[in-house]
Amino acid sequence: SAEEVTASYLEKIDNSCVNGFVTTWDKALETAKSIDKEGQDGPLAGVPIAIKDNISTNGLSTTCSSKILQGYVPPYDAHVIEKLRAAGAVILGKTNMDEFAMGTSTESSYYGATLNPWDTDRVPGGSSGGSAAVVAAGEVPVSLGSDTGGSVRCPAAFCGVVGLKPTYGCISRFGLISYANSLEQIGPLATSVADIATLMDVVAGYDARDSTSINRENSYSDSIKDDVDGLKIGVPEEYFGEGIDEGVEKTVWDAIAKYEDMGASWQKVSMPHTKYALAAYYIIAMSEASSNLARFDGTRYGFRADGDNWHVMASKTRAEGFGDEVKRRILLGTYALSAGYHDKYYLKALKVRTLVKQDFDKALSEVDVLMGPTMPTPAFKIGEKIDDPLSLYLADVNTVPINLAGVPSISVPCGFADKMPVGLQIIGKHFDENTILRAAYSFE
Ligand code: GLN
Repeated sequence: SAEEVTASYLEKIDNSCVNGFVTTWDKALETAKSIDKEGQDGPLAGVPIAIKDNISTNGLSTTCSSKILQGYVPPYDAHVIEKLRAAGAVILGKTNMDEFAMGTSTESSYYGATLNPWDTDRVPGGSSGGSAAVVAAGEVPVSLGSDTGGSVRCPAAFCGVVGLKPTYGCISRFGLISYANSLEQIGPLATSVADIATLMDVVAGYDARDSTSINRENSYSDSIKDDVDGLKIGVPEEYFGEGIDEGVEKTVWDAIAKYEDMGASWQKVSMPHTKYALAAYYIIAMSEASSNLARFDGTRYGFRADGDNWHVMASKTRAEGFGDEVKRRILLGTYALSAGYHDKYYLKALKVRTLVKQDFDKALSEVDVLMGPTMPTPAFKIGEKIDDPLSLYLADVNTVPINLAGVPSISVPCGFADKMPVGLQIIGKHFDENTILRAAYSFE
């Protein structure tokens, strides 16, 4: 029964050693019971799910793993949550993340780091590290994360699970607390591609409250079944650049060879603007963040510091409520948008973004999908990079170009390096999730 399934996962969560949840939902069991009693024929009837803590859940605390949102309980559901509840899913709780989704390791959470279940001395990746770790640890079968520059694919790769960053516009962002809204999408994580497709069938689609969402008739589950005979794969040489781990490189090439065995063909492609993508991404993401986070001033949501007047209260709230990485990004983003520097940094980054997108348009006019490593290395040690933000940013080199272009991309486990899971990244054309899901499914 749904009740038994929910109870068994809740017990696993109680005995967790990965610190993947920041909150569990006290009505999960009750919800499962009522599904058993009343009957539910939705596609996810009784299926437990975990939700990243930046996706708004009515009646359930949503903090972005930040002190500034401590105690904030949204009075409404995000679009994806409405869809999940209607499909019969049972929300078990909210998962840990880098504060406001800014990070690659889930170490910047106010609630402490999440640990990688394969080796608890290592990071689970980020920023949706909680959503990936709890799936990998068997504490929940499926979860939702968000991906602004790799935050679903990176932790999927580091934790050995599947994670999809859909095409920009595929899923409504209504109720997703924005970090960099022109780049991000909500994305599913699971242990199998079939589960990812099932979740996509539920959460994708148009929503009038997000004007960037698009209506497309599609069945993701039906699309995965065909084989990859004749599939044309492009391998961008820039994705195997400086800093790539030898074990990761070998594992990914072995995976590409397996596709050849299955009847696909591959060719090298060049995406010359890849080397500028990281810089452009961080300027755009920080600029958008500095604006999006202006709303957290102690007046409306969560934590409020004392102060004799509004100015003192608001600045003390922000000083005490935000962590170091968030403050760094607000300062850099404000600088990049300020008069005199706007053209030099922000507008320049937007021009680079167009060039990066054109690289994808050109490469994907010659092949069906692109393949490469999701991350240049396996999961690194906890504490190894957290004091050196630039080295953390560099880890995103293969994931951020995809968000600049808005194309879909999936990370599937393809083997091990240094005894840690390696993710194969499969990138597709805009709204061609079906082809990358099919390619990923064939590999499993
Ligand atoms: N690591 C990237 C960043 O810190 C991506 C984060 C994300 O996708 N939310 O911006």
